[in-house]
Amino acid sequence: MIEQISFGIVFVLAIFFFVRSVRKITRNIKLGRDIDLTDNRSERLMTMVRVALGQSKMGARPVAGFMHFLVYIGFILINIEVLEIVIDGIAGTHRVLSFMGGFYDFVIGFFEILAVLTILACAVFLVRRNVIKIKRFWNREMSGWPSSDANIILFTEIALMIALLTMNATDYLLQGRGADHYIEAGSFPISKHWAVLFAGMTDSTLIGIERFCWWFHIVGILGFLNYLPISKHFHIILAFPNTYFSNLKKKGQFTNLESVKKEVEIMFDPNADPYAAPPEPDPNAEPVRFGAKDVQDLTWKQLMDSYTCTECGRCTSECPANQTGKLLSPRKIMMSTRDRLDEVGKNIDKNGRNQEDGKSLLHDYITPEELWACTSCNACVQACPVNIDPLSIIVDLRRYLVMEESAAPQELNMMSTNIENNGAPWQMSMADRFNWATEE
Ligand code: SF4
Ligand code: SF4
Repeated sequence: MIEQISFGIVFVLAIFFFVRSVRKITRNIKLGRDIDLTDNRSERLMTMVRVALGQSKMGARPVAGFMHFLVYIGFILINIEVLEIVIDGIAGTHRVLSFMGGFYDFVIGFFEILAVLTILACAVFLVRRNVIKIKRFWNREMSGWPSSDANIILFTEIALMIALLTMNATDYLLQGRGADHYIEAGSFPISKHWAVLFAGMTDSTLIGIERFCWWFHIVGILGFLNYLPISKHFHIILAFPNTYFSNLKKKGQFTNLESVKKEVEIMFDPNADPYAAPPEPDPNAEPVRFGAKDVQDLTWKQLMDSYTCTECGRCTSECPANQTGKLLSPRKIMMSTRDRLDEVGKNIDKNGRNQEDGKSLLHDYITPEELWACTSCNACVQACPVNIDPLSIIVDLRRYLVMEESAAPQELNMMSTNIENNGAPWQMSMADRFNWATEE
């Protein structure tokens, strides 16, 4: 009974803290501007199924994609076993789902094979990161916590899988010895070999190890659940809504600032009255900010993107600016956005509202040098396995620089002046346009 009560307390606390963290992240995402992405539901659903569930974009790098698929499937399916562990924990039963007979045996056996494949895949991931040192895992923005985060989760997954196999191995021995409470259930194609290590132990030692692994496994899973919201691994959950709300427009199709668009439309409209008085501004309307300076100026989808980023670096490794040694890394754009959003969220937690802290995403987290290095080629958007759009954030921050701070690079200012004066980006008069065709 004490074990059941302890389990109940641990379980309720874990769920409580997880829900609290998720609510905070949801609140932070809602700080963003509104954007309507409720159109084309069937296309959105298909995109989610293809990209998040089917991991279609991971196939661009087949080896990493395959191993990620193993870890993903292994982790999701093996955690179905958690359902049984939770019921057993609360009810004080043992292998409660074993009434399913042969199907149960098959599932437990299948999970064991998946557990071994997951251990192997995690080991390969650790080697790629820490021994081979693949470049995209060692960029500037990956020093410190982001690098530890990835390693922590890989070691944790290995430890959880070993605990699962050890739990099964001792259970297998106890079942064979007819120990009380350990009913015969499950098939153990892997752990029955692993059980050789424990064969000489007494029943009480085996029960101790089995109980320890059982607790380690479930506490590890619940701990992992609470670790998700503070790590890049929250993408396990957010990949689904994030791909559902993907940008379905063609890549390269830019959004317009409505206020600027209206001005241009009037200029191009032959029927427009150039002397018409402008409409009266709404005194209750929020002042319009052109572009984005801080996270609240971005849309909720862009903020959701930042929490969904897996920090895989595929975007950065495809980025021509990064490849040619520029400061820009699209992954760092997403990480900075999330870090600033977290900071704003903590500010709200502390003060009850977002008290001005004198900081902003632009300048304090992302510099103009990074922004102007972008060629707006969309390679990062194309490469992202969870349909994140770093370019849209870059463009919004640049818009702020140009429209609110008049801080475009000299070359761009010259080009704009030339377009305004000469109708072309070059510094030559319209009258001289056909000089090139003049015979000497
Ligand atoms: S759009 Fe910009 S950030 Fe993205 S890959 Fe191209 S240059 Fe890099
Ligand atoms: S934006 Fe996408 S591709 Fe880039 S690091 Fe994040 S998840 Fe990976």
